[in-house]
Amino acid sequence: MLDPVCDMIVDVAEQREKGLTLERPEREYAFCGAGCLGTFARDPKRYIPKVERWLATGESAKPRM
Ligand SMILES: [Zn+2]
Repeated sequence: MLDPVCDMIVDVAEQREKGLTLERPEREYAFCGAGCLGTFARDPKRYIPKVERWLATGESAKPRM
C-alpha cells in the first residue's frame, strides 16, 4: 500500500500489527510511522486522491520496499 504522506510503499498487514493503519469506509490506509498517520488523519481528503491515483495506475508498477 502507498503511504500517501511520504510516498513510501508499506505492507498493510505489517503496519496493522504496529497500529499504523487507518480504517476508512472506502478502504484501509497504511503508513510508515505515527507521524504520517497523524498527518493523514488531520487532513485525509488531501491525501486520498493520491492513493486513488496510485491504485488506478496499478500497484505492481511500483517497487516494494
Ligand atoms: Zn510515511
